[in-house]
Amino acid sequence: MDTYDISSHSYAPLPSGFLETLSQSLDGAALIAGSEIAVRYLEDSLGTHFGRYGALVRPETTAQVAKILQACHHYHVAVIPQGGNTGRCAGATAQLQRASILLSLERMNKIRAFHADDESVTVDAGLVLADLQKFAADNARFFPVSLGAEGSCQIGGNLASNAGGINVLHYGSMRAQMLGLEAVMADGQIFDGLKRLTKDNSGYDLKHLLVGSEGTLGIITGACLKLSPPLRQHATAFITLKNPHQAVALLKLMRAESGNRVIAFELIPDLAFQLLSTHANPVRLPFAVGDSPWYVLVEFAESSPHIALRPLAENLIMAGYEAGLIGQAVVAENEQHRKDFWKIREALVYVQKQEGYAIKHDISVSPADIAALIDRVEVAITKLVPHIRPYPFGHVGDGNIHFNFCKPCNWSDAAFQAVEADVHQAVYQIIREFNGSISAEHGIGRIKVAYLHAQIGQTAYDQMRKIKQSLDPHNILNPGVLFDISQTDLATNTPNDHAISQP
Ligand code: FAD
Repeated sequence: MDTYDISSHSYAPLPSGFLETLSQSLDGAALIAGSEIAVRYLEDSLGTHFGRYGALVRPETTAQVAKILQACHHYHVAVIPQGGNTGRCAGATAQLQRASILLSLERMNKIRAFHADDESVTVDAGLVLADLQKFAADNARFFPVSLGAEGSCQIGGNLASNAGGINVLHYGSMRAQMLGLEAVMADGQIFDGLKRLTKDNSGYDLKHLLVGSEGTLGIITGACLKLSPPLRQHATAFITLKNPHQAVALLKLMRAESGNRVIAFELIPDLAFQLLSTHANPVRLPFAVGDSPWYVLVEFAESSPHIALRPLAENLIMAGYEAGLIGQAVVAENEQHRKDFWKIREALVYVQKQEGYAIKHDISVSPADIAALIDRVEVAITKLVPHIRPYPFGHVGDGNIHFNFCKPCNWSDAAFQAVEADVHQAVYQIIREFNGSISAEHGIGRIKVAYLHAQIGQTAYDQMRKIKQSLDPHNILNPGVLFDISQTDLATNTPNDHAISQP
């Protein structure tokens, strides 16, 4: 990304003595002056939010993180934790009016221990997700969290945002993989919760409080994670169907009759096929554009070599066809074919970007309501903005849809941005009526702060603020994320603060 002009943004100076204190406990590679920070740390993955800090720190050990937090606590310097910087809600990007540092976990990237006997692994928080997946595969295990950014996002970032991805349907989100956690709290104390217990009911569960806290309650430095049995067989199919209601019914049938072997079930609209065929990209489509208004990418998986998965999948596709839920289906012939199918799914975010500015939502409802939600949102928003192009895709089996919109053809980005707030209000109002969530898997970050209170209600909001104030009394941990605690902490750098854009 080279769109970021550093000179047009500024940062508050660090208090005198702060850097000297830090340099006593850090090696040369760990401390980088504010003016020297590379752009990749400063610009977020949406390309809409930019950070500036008095320094970048890149510790290598938990003890070093503790020293950094002690100094920040003492000098009241804000800390923005950053993993792979792939988040979709500007949680790891800030420009504050108070002194701040960016803390990257990227040098803490080791596998600490493999516990083969109890099927778990203890890792540094800065380990890249794909490296953990590879480690698991190399050791005849499977780590099931999988998402488009897995080549750069980190375990600490995945836990801090409780990442979801394509396999939540069967394995649950990042939280469900976690057995134990290590974190440094706001005052520099180390919370050593790296236990590997399946059961532990001794009081409040701090580790689960930290998961999904988006860097506002502590810096995650290590984690103990469950590993699953390796998947020895896959059966992956692209299916056409008439509407999302058929998708919901099909998933129900397939889950029940496959013995719960559906691990992914992704809904894709025909607009995606149109964009994939319009914009240059290397994917081969299994159906022609316009063949169907909707598609589903479904994957069955099996660990046992003693069960024949493909015939089972084919029987279920036939059952779906006979039930009138499926138009056509193509089953991947081999591993390369399967990978090609998944490339289509992964390309959805990128082709949408090529189409120009997009209005984005990461919303969820009860899985039984997802088709009705898609209908409601589509009708309401096309009435609000005639010719807007709905682009809902994703994890429909989890009740989670990335309900994005492409601008009407011939509209400028600026004209589309002008209606963005109205579109968000209308979508979130519908979400409230469904008792759903405005953030299924990406978090609140800095871009949905204004909507959190209405989403969770007064009591939950008050309790969350009290927890934050109790664990981080100086508000040094990622200020501006989740809570608009102080006007002086607000980012001032973006054209539209709290503006709203996520995939
Ligand atoms: P960052 O972006 O660096 O940070 C995310 C948040 O966590 C920030 O608030 C940051 O301050 C905090 N944080 C980071 N590290 C730590 C730490 N060690 N301790 C405390 N706080 C920390 N997400 C999904 O859930 N499902 C998807 O399917 C999905 N698909 C994606 C596809 C693409 C192409 C892209 C670009 C992103 C996608 N995402 C998805 C979003 C993103 O990848 C995830 O949210 C990911 O978990 C973020 O990890 P990260 O290491 O990049 O964190």
